[in-house]
Formats: sequence, C-alpha cells, structure tokens
Amino acid sequence: MFLSGCGKKKYDLILDRYGFEAKKTKYHAGETVTVYYIMIATDTDYSFYTDSEDVSLTQKYDGKHGYVFTFTMPEHDVRLFVDSRNSMEYIPDTADTVYKQIDTDTVSEPGQWKCQECGKCNEGGYCSECGSKKPSDDK
Ligand SMILES: [Zn+2]
Repeated sequence: MFLSGCGKKKYDLILDRYGFEAKKTKYHAGETVTVYYIMIATDTDYSFYTDSEDVSLTQKYDGKHGYVFTFTMPEHDVRLFVDSRNSMEYIPDTADTVYKQIDTDTVSEPGQWKCQECGKCNEGGYCSECGSKKPSDDK
C-alpha cells in the first residue's frame, strides 16, 4: 500500500543516549534527518550506528556542533546508538578471571570421603545414602 500526500505516516527517530540532539523526533519517509552529537569528551572513541541496515548514516564532524549525522528516513522507525569508550584508559580484559579458575578435580574438601558401596560423597562417619561406615585409611 502506498500512501501519498497528507496521509503519510511519520516515523520515529529514537535517540538511545543523552548527548544526541535533533530538531524533531518524527519524520516522513524520505525526509532528511539531521542529528547532532554534542557530548564529546577528549580521549574518547565514539562509534555510532543505527538498528537498521537500510539506513546509511553520513557522519561529519563540525567544530561548532560536534558530530553531525544525516540520513534519509526509511519507512520505519530508526534508533540511533552511540558506543563510547575512553581510549586512554586501560580496561583489563577477562584474562584475570580465567587464571583464577580453580581446577576442581584436584581440590578435595578436607574430611570428605567417597562411599565404597554406593559412591556417594560424605562428610560424616557414615554414608548418608546407604549407611555404610566410613572406610579407614589403611587399604
Ligand atoms: Zn553409601
């Protein structure tokens, strides 16, 4: 169905983060959308993207406004995102947590024993599963 003239639907421009500025948030399909991003910090890398593959975002840098984006409104709502990360700050990777992993096979709880009858791990003097007595250390 093709709607023309005054019956045309407007689509939403959704701005994901504080820092974006747009003159309006509703656009007709085919209308040029201009968005500014003014929250620019030094030493920070920004990457901007939309949720729509059919939107080609044109990115320019303007000394007065900051980043200026223009795109043509498609026939659906468009959400605009920004990812920012400080390029000077070292963010430790997940390597730390990997090395802290404990090899559970080699660590045994003190006082635990495995029942020879049913194989259950127990802590007391008798098996909680079958009632067998805890085996003595000598084999
Ligand atoms: Zn048992």
